[in-house]
Amino acid sequence: MIASDIIAKKRNGEELKSNDLSWFITKYLENQISDAQMSALLMAIYFNGMTEKELLVLIDEMINSGQVLKFEKSDYFLADKHSTGGIGDKTSIILAPVMAATGIRIPMIAGRGLEYTGGTIDKLEAIPGINVTPSLDKFKSWIENIGCAIISQSKDICPADNKIYALRNQTATVPSIPIICSSIMSKKIAEGIMGLVMDIKVGNGAFMKTKHNAFRLSRLIKKVAKSYGLKIDIIYSDMNQPLGRYAGLGCEIKEAIDCLKGNGPQDLMNNTFELCSCLLIQAGKANNKQESKEIFDTIIETGKGFEFFQKMIFLQNGCLKKFEKKIIPKFEKIVRSNQNGTINYMDTEKIGWSLVKLGCGNEEKLDNTAGIEFVVKPGDIIKKGSPVYRVFNSNSKKLNSASELLLNTIRVNK
Ligand code: URA
Repeated sequence: MIASDIIAKKRNGEELKSNDLSWFITKYLENQISDAQMSALLMAIYFNGMTEKELLVLIDEMINSGQVLKFEKSDYFLADKHSTGGIGDKTSIILAPVMAATGIRIPMIAGRGLEYTGGTIDKLEAIPGINVTPSLDKFKSWIENIGCAIISQSKDICPADNKIYALRNQTATVPSIPIICSSIMSKKIAEGIMGLVMDIKVGNGAFMKTKHNAFRLSRLIKKVAKSYGLKIDIIYSDMNQPLGRYAGLGCEIKEAIDCLKGNGPQDLMNNTFELCSCLLIQAGKANNKQESKEIFDTIIETGKGFEFFQKMIFLQNGCLKKFEKKIIPKFEKIVRSNQNGTINYMDTEKIGWSLVKLGCGNEEKLDNTAGIEFVVKPGDIIKKGSPVYRVFNSNSKKLNSASELLLNTIRVNK
């Protein structure tokens, strides 16, 4: 087979044969197909999409490029949650221990930042010592021990997605619906889970800017879930503003801890509950939303969720004692409003790019102290000169350029 022939076929809108795709992925992993050729194929897919048959082959190839987890004891409901990516979205870090506290097992494989969206793994790495790349045996033992762990994909799990993920980030091919679907679903199926809840973010800070695209992705995810016998629920959540009060690295872990202690902001708690509720019902632990709300509230109020979070971090070798000191930023700046009125729009994608500039993504060495506090949100009244964002990190040059980018990210009704 010839790589450029396969790229040309996709460029011309033809359907690729199963063998074509399998061969392309295998050779890419063996470094016999270059990043340039894979980028070209991704761009052709970006423009021409994929048929369902092609998508299922791609997902199969991604799964089979690594191992699939198998858990011995099947008397537990194994499940996971995944989001399509957003700003300030730290729900995974809250959901995993809360679900483990109810007896649902969550073997979560999460991602790094993609384009301007934050990555759960990057955030977790703000905790000193944390191990997000254990051997699969160790990962399984963590899950069997306390019921949850959050790790990064690696050479062992979906290495094809791992390699393509990094490339998408550099080639403007992230928002391709079939590629997003393959990236998410391959990782989830490789976890050996029985149920999944998907959080499809919709809005100006999401990869799905419109409901139409969110529904397209949702249809594909449901088809894939069905073909692998996975229970699936999908929720759509607003990404026309950041989620919660903070976005960044260490500050998001801190906010997740606040949520687990019962002091989280309402939007973030609601989003986490909606997702937990789906899993509780899938697992048969609740019959309806009201019952799941009682379970969720009890886990938070009794501190059980925080207890499981502490256990999870301890097992993953993280040190929570040193954490708070390590995320103190050296610099901060207040970005103020230049108008009076009620906020009716936040440019959430631009806020995401400001976070990247601050040191929260797309670099080898991230700044765990970096982040943004959202002093106001849409619907709030502001005055000229009043604070809109508190921006912080440990590199003053980056702080200044991120603050400048944030200058025109809100609009108001006068
Ligand atoms: N999360 C993933 O794992 N992959 C994507 O493409 C988007 C969000």
